[in-house]
Amino acid sequence: MTVRWRAPGRVNLIGEHTDYNAGLALPFAIEQGCTATVSVAQHGFTVTSAQNGEQVTVDDLHELPDGWVRYALGPAAVLASRGVDVPPLRVEIDSDVPLGAGLSSSAAVVCSVTTALDDLLGLDLSPDDLLAVSRAAENDVVGAPTGGLDQLASLRCEAGQVLRCDFADFSTELVPFDPAAHGLTVLVVDTRVEHGHAGGEYAARRHACEQAATRLGLGSLREVTDLPAALVALDRPEDGELRRCTRHVATENARVQEVVELLRAGDVPRIGPLLSASHASLRDDFRVTVPELDLAAATLEEAGALGARMTGGGFGGCVIALVPVDRVDAAVRAVERAFAGAGHRAPVSFTARPSAGASRLDA
Ligand code: ADP
Ligand code: MG
Repeated sequence: MTVRWRAPGRVNLIGEHTDYNAGLALPFAIEQGCTATVSVAQHGFTVTSAQNGEQVTVDDLHELPDGWVRYALGPAAVLASRGVDVPPLRVEIDSDVPLGAGLSSSAAVVCSVTTALDDLLGLDLSPDDLLAVSRAAENDVVGAPTGGLDQLASLRCEAGQVLRCDFADFSTELVPFDPAAHGLTVLVVDTRVEHGHAGGEYAARRHACEQAATRLGLGSLREVTDLPAALVALDRPEDGELRRCTRHVATENARVQEVVELLRAGDVPRIGPLLSASHASLRDDFRVTVPELDLAAATLEEAGALGARMTGGGFGGCVIALVPVDRVDAAVRAVERAFAGAGHRAPVSFTARPSAGASRLDA
């Protein structure tokens, strides 16, 4: 038997670096995704990727080579370590999510394979188990300390909606998001600065957030209720970074909630300034932008976007902007000109529509 599942990449509309702070985020799935075609084999575990053209066979799920094979076989390894009797497998992945662009090509792989294995092996995993297995594939098998946002989005998003994710308890709620009804679209600009080198910076921000929460006597920065008082309490001369990280996380959670309320009221245009405020906070307080991200966001705003912000972990990757449909072409050209003028690599732009999460395809 062969099963085929497709799981999408995502953009995060707002709520960045909040997931590992037990906070709020608001991703939606994009049309691009990874298709995993999985069948039982005679022996060994064979993976292929249509993107790198490689085929690799391993005998032992607990001795995977480093690199992309860990994403493709990570879910099988997690299931095996949880006591599932995983048979020899053939796993083919084929994705149109750009790799390393902050659009979660990695979650698209692990979620498509996790859902395919659930189906193929008749495991009947609950939504929470699907999340746990796909997260463990990235966190434990690959060793990427992601906070769960990417996998939640890839598994649970639906067309025409954003997914309010609350990382205090990993609960999710769909919120309608229909920019087209307002003559608007979400433009994604991939700066083509790969964020892959940023592991150390990501770990440093996580550490700063944990330190700040500990100093404040809190379980996480989500619990900050009085931001001015928290900033006063972080009073040592060397606390500048802790204060800035605390301010980003607290204000970002508040912005997510404001966006949710505006979307529930059907007021899409008014989310624009909140997107821009999020970018400023990530640039000035959390300090995870790079010149290409700042230039793209500023240029898009000048070209008529109602708001623009980096999306994903930062240090590269993409900017999203809420743009009137009739200004998309001009905005794309403006960013291309600005990048050429600054000597940056040419960016790649596309519009994104809130799309469906993981789903079964005909095999
Ligand atoms: P992002 O998730 O933002 O795209 P990551 O660094 O988290 O960036 O994940 C990118 C990695 O995922 C790649 O370096 C590769 O190892 C793996 N990957 C994603 N898609 C594929 C694919 N189609 N084929 C092979 N490996 C892939
Ligand atoms: Mg990723």
